[in-house]
Amino acid sequence: MKDLTNEVIVHKDVNGVQYIQFKKLLEYTEIQHCFTLKHQGLNFKKYDDENSPLELSYEKISEVFNWNPNQIVKPHQTHTDRVEVVYDSEKIWNEVDGLITNQKNLVLCTTEADCTGLIFYDPVCKVIGNVHSGWRGTLQRIGQKAVKKMINEYHSDPKNIICCICPHIRKCHFEVEDDVKELFEKEFSADIEIEQFITVGKSIDKDGVKVQKYFIDTTLLNKMMLQKEGLREENIIDSGMCTVCESDQFHSYRVDGALSGRNATMIEIKE
Ligand SMILES: [Zn+2]
Repeated sequence: MKDLTNEVIVHKDVNGVQYIQFKKLLEYTEIQHCFTLKHQGLNFKKYDDENSPLELSYEKISEVFNWNPNQIVKPHQTHTDRVEVVYDSEKIWNEVDGLITNQKNLVLCTTEADCTGLIFYDPVCKVIGNVHSGWRGTLQRIGQKAVKKMINEYHSDPKNIICCICPHIRKCHFEVEDDVKELFEKEFSADIEIEQFITVGKSIDKDGVKVQKYFIDTTLLNKMMLQKEGLREENIIDSGMCTVCESDQFHSYRVDGALSGRNATMIEIKE
C-alpha cells in the first residue's frame, strides 16, 4: 500500500478499510473523523441499482468507528450554498451541501469526487461542520457561509475554529475555459488579485476555433475566504493532496468520468 501520510495527515488501514485523518483533529479525543479512500470497493456514490456498494460501504466505515449507520446524516448535495443545523438523523436534507451541529452521536457526512470537503471543528463551543464545496459551491462561498452559521447559531469565535481541507482537485488539474474562468474572476477579483488564483494554460484548436484554457486555484480561494471570515492561518489545515494526481487512491470525476465513485468526508462528536 502506498502510504499517503504527510506532515498534516495520517493514512490508516483498518481491516482493509482505508482512510486519512488530520493530525490536528486527532488531538481532540471527543471527536472522530475521516476522509475515505477507494480501495476494496469503498464507494459512497448513490446508484439506482440494487448492486450498489453504498450500503456496504457505510457498514464497513461504521464498523471502524463504532457507529450505527442510522447515526449518519447524508444530505442530498446539489452544489448549493445551503448550510443547515442538524438536530437529528431522521430528517431528509434536500438541496443542502453543508451541515453543522453541536449534538453528539450525529455523523455529518458529505461525499466527493474531486470536490472539496471542508471539515470544521470549534473545540471551545464543541461544534462540528462538514461542507461539500465543489467549484460551484466555492463560487457561492459555501465554506465562508458555514463559518458565519457557526458564529450565528452557536456563538463560535472564528479564532477558535479549525478547518481541514480534504483532498480535492487542485490547481494542477482544475482546468477550465472562459465561461467558468469569468465566473471566478467576477466573484473574487475584489478580494484577491486575479493572477494569484488563475493561471493561463494552453490554447487548443476546437473545430477550427481557438479555445483558451485556464487553471483555477480553488484551494487558495477557500483559504482566503476562511481567513476573511476570521479563521487563523494556522487553523486552516490543507491536506495538500490532489484527487486527480492520486486517482489510484481516491475516486476522481475528472479521471473516471460519469462512472466515478465517491469518497466520504465524515465527522462526529462522540458520546
Ligand atoms: Zn493534480
